[in-house]
Amino acid sequence: MSFPWSAKNLPKQIFINNEYVAAKSSKKLTLNNPKDGSLIADDVALAGEQDVDAAVAAAEKAFPAWKKLGATERRNIMLKFADLIEKNTQEIAELSRISLGAPFKAFGAFEVGLCAEAFKYNAGYIDKFGGESWPQEDGFLKIVRNEPLGVTAGIVPWNGPVGTIGLKAAPALATGNCFILKPSEKTPFSSLALGTLIKEAGFPPGVFQILSGDGTTGALLASHMRIRKVSFTGSIATGKKIQEMAAKSNLKRVTLELGGKSPAVVFDDCNLENAITWTANAITANTGQVCFAASRVYVQEGIYEKFIEGYKEAMRNKAKEVGDPEAEGTNIGPLVDEAQFKRVQGFIERGQKSGAKIAVGGQRIGDKGFYLEPTVFTDVDPTSEIHCEEIFGPVSVVKSFKTEEEIMKLSNDTNFGLMAGVFTQDINKALRVASDFDSGMVGINCVSLMFLVTPFGGSKESGLGRECGIHALRAFTEPKTIMINMNY
Ligand code: NAD
Repeated sequence: MSFPWSAKNLPKQIFINNEYVAAKSSKKLTLNNPKDGSLIADDVALAGEQDVDAAVAAAEKAFPAWKKLGATERRNIMLKFADLIEKNTQEIAELSRISLGAPFKAFGAFEVGLCAEAFKYNAGYIDKFGGESWPQEDGFLKIVRNEPLGVTAGIVPWNGPVGTIGLKAAPALATGNCFILKPSEKTPFSSLALGTLIKEAGFPPGVFQILSGDGTTGALLASHMRIRKVSFTGSIATGKKIQEMAAKSNLKRVTLELGGKSPAVVFDDCNLENAITWTANAITANTGQVCFAASRVYVQEGIYEKFIEGYKEAMRNKAKEVGDPEAEGTNIGPLVDEAQFKRVQGFIERGQKSGAKIAVGGQRIGDKGFYLEPTVFTDVDPTSEIHCEEIFGPVSVVKSFKTEEEIMKLSNDTNFGLMAGVFTQDINKALRVASDFDSGMVGINCVSLMFLVTPFGGSKESGLGRECGIHALRAFTEPKTIMINMNY
């Protein structure tokens, strides 16, 4: 089957029971193109209560057979799905790009690839994650089975609309759960388009469904009495609401991947060029709309002047890569929409008012679309908003420090704890600092990166639980202990 979806033929209906259907709710989503603000569509389905109930009912019906399906069959479906995603990478990325604005080479290809790889990786675990057993010297054989939960849901943000699907749907489905995906209201098209590939890959009806919608749809999922787990990626404020809804409904299991204000600590003895390259890339990739972007850069005073000159130059060069996401040579697109653009501009204005200085950038590029110069603040008050809050745009603060002790205290003096980076050529110092960071992930001589094989997620208010690796499979299963009396 050829892939039917494109900018000229957008998927706008929800995907239930392996069919595209009109939502029962008459409410619609409106989408604009961030490259020029033009209207893309104002008639995209916004799933309501009846739609959520229909998807849950279909998933419940599908669950017993999906749970019992042989490992080989389930793996083959997952691998075929990964293969179909790879074959249609360009088309899927384009469907994200029209409402996200991310260029294909610099971001779209990566995140569609991440989704496909996540399906392959988790498919490989299907026959290796059954459970454990213990010897029977005491007369009892003990077996622990990793059981799927049942109907599960994934609520994803707009900044990584396809990659985040792989991190949630793949482990959920590999472990025998049914999965309902709720994409962000800002980026529904690439998600909805996957319905065609779900069917073609051979997922039975009801196993993998997609409900486009906004926060109201997400809330219906998070508070649903027959959904057993919700895996969420998004803001801290919404994450807290989801945990509350989960607790108040049926105590459904929750995984939360939330925001960050990640520090990169650059010591005098680092490889300067390496530190500049990583920190500049980290805050401009996907226009800074990345949860684990290194947005606080701390530089030891001996190399501060040299660093800031190099970093400023790197960011000025980055500004040359900002442009129309469809143009050749663009690595950095616009911010996702007007609301996000104004939000980031607000941070910049208030940052200046707080006394911080713009070392580079700060200005809008052009008068159409939501393009912003990569921006660096210096002279920041460590208690100010620009230093403490997640901006979610290409804006960093740079601050000098004297001692390791002082900077570790400042690095950890935050409610966030997603990512951190340390740049030094002293391995003892690197490992000491890595251990002292109060964060879920730490890079040594690198920052703001992830791997499918290692736990991904944050400490403190940056999250709850982990995605990726075996941790993701654990998060979608519950151990069931079976005790067999061998003396009977
Ligand atoms: P958001 O919290 O506004 O929305 C995320 C998703 O939640 C969307 O699908 C939205 O429709 C839904 N939602 C909104 N209100 C809801 C409610 N009351 N109940 C249920 N669902 C609801 O976040 P966003 O603006 O889409 O994404 C940006 C945020 O996501 C940033 O804070 C960023 O750091 C974070 N993020 C974290 C990670 C991570 O892995 N840690 C990855 C990407 C983004």
